[in-house]
Amino acid sequence: MTLGEFSVIARFFSRPVSAGILGVGDDAARLRLPPNTDLVSCKDLLIEGRHFFANVSPDTLGHKALAVNLSDLAAMGAKPLACLLGIGLVTPRADWLAEFADGFYRLADQWQCPLIGGDTIASEFGTVISVTVMGTLPSGELGLRRNRGQIDDDLWVSGDLGGADVALRALQGDVNISPELLAATRARLERPEPRVALGQALLPHAHAAIDISDGLTQDLQHLLKASNCGAEIHWQQLPIHPMIQTLPENIKRLAVLNGGDVYELCFTAPRRSRAAIEQLAIALSVPLSRVGSLTPTPGLRLRHGNGLVESLTAQGFDHFKRGEQHG
Ligand code: ADP
Ligand code: MG
Repeated sequence: MTLGEFSVIARFFSRPVSAGILGVGDDAARLRLPPNTDLVSCKDLLIEGRHFFANVSPDTLGHKALAVNLSDLAAMGAKPLACLLGIGLVTPRADWLAEFADGFYRLADQWQCPLIGGDTIASEFGTVISVTVMGTLPSGELGLRRNRGQIDDDLWVSGDLGGADVALRALQGDVNISPELLAATRARLERPEPRVALGQALLPHAHAAIDISDGLTQDLQHLLKASNCGAEIHWQQLPIHPMIQTLPENIKRLAVLNGGDVYELCFTAPRRSRAAIEQLAIALSVPLSRVGSLTPTPGLRLRHGNGLVESLTAQGFDHFKRGEQHG
């Protein structure tokens, strides 16, 4: 028996929400904003074949669809409030939907970000998923805006880099890696852990932040442009995924500098925040690496151990430029 639109919603996307919230079931959801907060919102669209493989595990996809949005909230320093899910399916299958919903709700529960509505449609071109996430920031709080970087700020990166890109290239058949290495890097691509707690904890200490979903070089340059300054980063200080250290230099370099799908935060903070940030790394169990600093000279430069300094140009993912990886 094929599932209809309303049974899909009722069976898979109608889990109860807290008292005081009007969730799924009416024409629109309704909830109260906590006093003295501003609403922060964002949306990401994921399309089969472009952002995920048709055969990806549905639990993983449910997780990632929400994770990429929570990562954007984290990069603003916002606290999750609620989310909406738009989904287009060619043929709704109960087992697939049950797993997808489990992956989605598990992460939503983890960050107290209830699913309060959405839309469900038939798609002719494969699965399409669009999640909207809403969050809050205290009114008057500047937030981790891209344009708040200041000259001489330290530049920090959370987590590690390069794993997602290596896994993606391996799954696409572009590079050959061992099954152990694929197993070790695949979670970075498929089950990113959005840095939600870190983003909020950074509010008193950091200036600007961005998540590295389109690659470090490209996303950092967005921040630099908005902040009207440049940066120097040190290759030796970049937190390279430990398992990719032994890969050929060119593959590793591309993965670390340009590889996308990295749901880590790159942020700037004044020198006086160093001790507080190191404490945060311990308190939240999130590795935080100080990788460089902001400079008055525009552009992005990479310094190597031997003193060589090279200029980096933005080369990350762009949806309207063909022949590159997904993003
Ligand atoms: P309308 O036709 O008024 O847009 P729908 O019949 O599409 O309403 O949706 C009925 C209810 O189910 C609404 O509350 C809507 O927000 C919710 N809903 C629909 N699809 C989803 C989904 N994929 N996830 C969560 N809620 C959904
Ligand atoms: Mg509808």
